[in-house]
Amino acid sequence: MNRNYLLTFCVILGFGMTASLLLNAQSQEPMKTEDAIPNQPEKPVTMTEAEWKQKLTPEQYRIARLSWTESPNGEIYKQFKKQGAGTYYCVGCNAELFSSDEKFDSHCGWPSFYDPSNAKNVKSIPDPDGRRVEVKCNVCDAHLGHVFRGEGFDTPTDQRYCINGTVLKYVSDEDVAKKKLEDAAKEMKKSTEEEVQPDAQEKSE
Ligand SMILES: [Zn+2]
Repeated sequence: MNRNYLLTFCVILGFGMTASLLLNAQSQEPMKTEDAIPNQPEKPVTMTEAEWKQKLTPEQYRIARLSWTESPNGEIYKQFKKQGAGTYYCVGCNAELFSSDEKFDSHCGWPSFYDPSNAKNVKSIPDPDGRRVEVKCNVCDAHLGHVFRGEGFDTPTDQRYCINGTVLKYVSDEDVAKKKLEDAAKEMKKSTEEEVQPDAQEKSE
């Protein structure tokens, strides 16, 4: 009787864990994207835990502030692999962190770069047990991932910045150029209208 009870309990537990894993993998939120270069922070960004919770999504908060790791090979990774030329900013503070110039395919299931695009915004801290080196945003202290060195990748640095895409904000070069053109066109239309305006007023007087 007791054994049956235990068996049922194990089956339910196993089912529950599998279901929750599947649910997590399916519900991975996409990497944040924007069509303009965000303003760069000029000094360190500090917030209370309550403020971070308000600013970030629960998933971003768990990774950036509690050092969790996103599921590998998820929607974010698929999205990352498809992204073309562009820049990656910190989702917490907008600091520029990485660019597509240093992106490479490490097949590890997480976004990989061989170097930061703006080194002063990225810091490396060895884990206390000395096994891994943590990578954090130097402006808001967000956990980004880890860096591994000397793995034999054919890149200029042989470093693998293994980064959680959830805490990155992607801005594509194409979108920035498109938005600049749109803004310039709007500006031109506005100034043409302003030039026409006094003339129209003269006629009505
Ligand atoms: Zn940051």
